[in-house]
Amino acid sequence: MRIARFSHQGNVSFGVVQGDPAQPETLVVHAIAGHPFEPPQPTGVNHPLSQVRLLTPMLPNKIVAVGRNYAEHAKEMGNEVPETPLTFFKPSTSVVGPSENIAYPPFSSELSHEAELAVVIGRMCREVPADRAHEVILGYTCANDVTARDAQRAEGQWARAKGFDTACPLGPWIETDVDPSDLAITCTVNGEVRQSGRTSQMIRPIGELISFITEAMTLLPGDVVLTGTPAGVGPLNVGDEVAVGIEGIGTLANKVIKRG
Ligand code: MG
Repeated sequence: MRIARFSHQGNVSFGVVQGDPAQPETLVVHAIAGHPFEPPQPTGVNHPLSQVRLLTPMLPNKIVAVGRNYAEHAKEMGNEVPETPLTFFKPSTSVVGPSENIAYPPFSSELSHEAELAVVIGRMCREVPADRAHEVILGYTCANDVTARDAQRAEGQWARAKGFDTACPLGPWIETDVDPSDLAITCTVNGEVRQSGRTSQMIRPIGELISFITEAMTLLPGDVVLTGTPAGVGPLNVGDEVAVGIEGIGTLANKVIKRG
C-alpha cells in the first residue's frame, strides 16, 4: 500500500495511491479518514493523482539520521566506518515534500545531495530488539539528506549543516509492502546519475539501527529514521533538479532554488 499526504482545494488529508507508477495517468488517490497508523478507512473521495498536490507523506516529530552506513561513501569522504553507528538529528522544520524546493542556505557554498532510504515509524516504541523492528515500522519512503558540506566540515556539530530549512525532502509516499533489504537506490541531478547503490550495502541493517536508536530514545508514530547514503555524493547548484529513486517505492524530485 502507498500512503500519501496531499492537498486538494486547500484540504489536506492522507490517502492511498493506486495505479501503475510507470503509467502516471492511471494513478488515483483514495482519501482516508484521520491518520494512517490505524487500518485505513476510505472516505469514498477519490482524485486522479495529477489533480492533487503531494505533500511530505509525514510530518515527523523528529528525524534520526545515521551517518557513514555505506562503506564506499565513508571511503569517498576519507572517513573510517565508525565502530558504533553515528547518529544525528534533522529538525522537523527541515522537511519538505515532493515538488517543493530545496532553498540554498546563505551560509553555504557547497550543498550536497545524499540519497537515503527513510524508515517511517508506525507506533510508539522504545528498546526494540533488532529482530522485532518490523513491528514498529509503518513503511518506507525516499529521502534526501541535503547537507551543507562546508558547514559540516567547519562546525563540530551538524545542526546547521544538515538541519537548515528544506534540508530534508521526503516522499513521494510511504510504501508499506516492500522488503527494504536489497533495493536499488539512485540519485540523479538534471537526469545524470550521481549515486547508484543497493540497500543491501548498508553496514548496519535497519533492524540494528532501530534497536540502537531506541536503546536511547522513544520513537513516536511518524518519526523518520534515515539510513545513510551510498557513494557518489556531489554538489547541488541553484537551478538543479535532484531526484532520489528507490526500487519498489518511487521517486522524490526537488528543484534547488536560491533562498528568497
Ligand atoms: Mg546522510
